[in-house]
Amino acid sequence: MKRIVYMDNAATTRVDDRVVKAMLPYFTEEYGNPSSLHKLGIEAQRAVEKARETIARSIGASPEEIIFTSGATESDNIAIKGYCRKHKSDKKNKIITTKIEHAAVFRSCVHLSREGFNIVYLNVDKEGFIDMEQLKKELDDSVLLVSIIHGNNEIGTIQDIEAIGKLCKEHNVVFHTDATQSYCKVPINVDEENIDMLTMNAHKMHGPKGIGALYIRDGIKIDPLYGGGPHEFRLRPGTHNVPGIVGFAKAVEIESKEMEKTAEYVKKLRDYLVERLLKEIDGCYLNGSSDLSIEKRLPNNANLRFDYIEGESLVFRLSDYGIMTSTGSACSSANLTPSHVLNAIGLPHEKAHGSLRLTLSKYTTKKDVDYAVEKIKKVVEELRELSPLTKKENKEKERRDNGFGLHGKGNRTVSEPQECGGA
Ligand SMILES: *Cc1c(COP(=O)(O)O)cnc(C)c1O
Repeated sequence: MKRIVYMDNAATTRVDDRVVKAMLPYFTEEYGNPSSLHKLGIEAQRAVEKARETIARSIGASPEEIIFTSGATESDNIAIKGYCRKHKSDKKNKIITTKIEHAAVFRSCVHLSREGFNIVYLNVDKEGFIDMEQLKKELDDSVLLVSIIHGNNEIGTIQDIEAIGKLCKEHNVVFHTDATQSYCKVPINVDEENIDMLTMNAHKMHGPKGIGALYIRDGIKIDPLYGGGPHEFRLRPGTHNVPGIVGFAKAVEIESKEMEKTAEYVKKLRDYLVERLLKEIDGCYLNGSSDLSIEKRLPNNANLRFDYIEGESLVFRLSDYGIMTSTGSACSSANLTPSHVLNAIGLPHEKAHGSLRLTLSKYTTKKDVDYAVEKIKKVVEELRELSPLTKKENKEKERRDNGFGLHGKGNRTVSEPQECGGA
């Protein structure tokens, strides 16, 4: 069989065999509906409640504070729309978020802006860290909600969630974070970090697709997005995805137990990958945090850009060699609009287009990394030779692009995330 080197773990991950094994009985033996009164129903309900406890424990929450959803997209929508619609008043209508959110958060805010909410998109610096001073300034009496991504899905930058949570608490403002990429990769405690709502899913951490959860701090009221049965405290009606929930909890059990070991292993490989690419390819740069510590950057994330290269061509060519990667944005390659995240860190379109995201996992080996480096070197060289733009022309173009200030302080416009399938 052709060699497959999977380096797109921010889009989705391989399901752990132990997770599959835990799920299987719930398709053909324990297939009851948790809402049913009979024995099979009771067994299914027991499995759901056990899973809820596992997930609650992993972030220092109580089981009643966890609701199961169909994934992180739904969790983000329930948290943001559900909270803001419930609490809107003439005086309180401001939502603070950032220019580097996942489309699920970004589009939820866009929907709310059409309902009369005032959305503020915080700037980030060139490594993707939010402007804390701007956050402080924006935290006035009209703020209803702050929603800030934890570990960024494109560039891996990890925000100082504890400092943000503390600020929000001081201002009595509810704080939501999308922790889909960081959950079970770095330690999270909702009380220590003053997080009021937290989004997570299973398929970014070796669990199944189509299942996620939302942590909602006890006492916080939410308007459900749709009507239905009494499931999930009426906040997310619909028959439980029991195999998914069981698989999610199994993945959480495995990943939280092995978190430190995995992070150390993956980080070492990532650092080696980045070091080799930067050293062995001219005109290659790292996007995102230059501090590679686990406090500042997701341990599995590398996002690099190459002069005179189109990220999409790179992804296609590497795919022919069995290497699965993503452009900087993980968006449809048919859509050539550059990533809003790379835009927000100040990269001109030209440079954003030359970006490649490589995201590793516990299944990645050093051999995989060596193979990928070898092929990336080869493909970059070939593409540069083929490039219709000579280096001289590129230099001129670059000078023109740099004329456009993309950092614009206080600029509230933000480029839209593309309709991404995955991350
Ligand atoms: C993948 C991802 C999502 C969407 O998750 P789904 O479970 O596929 O809906 C949301 N936010 C972030 C940060 C992600 O990486």
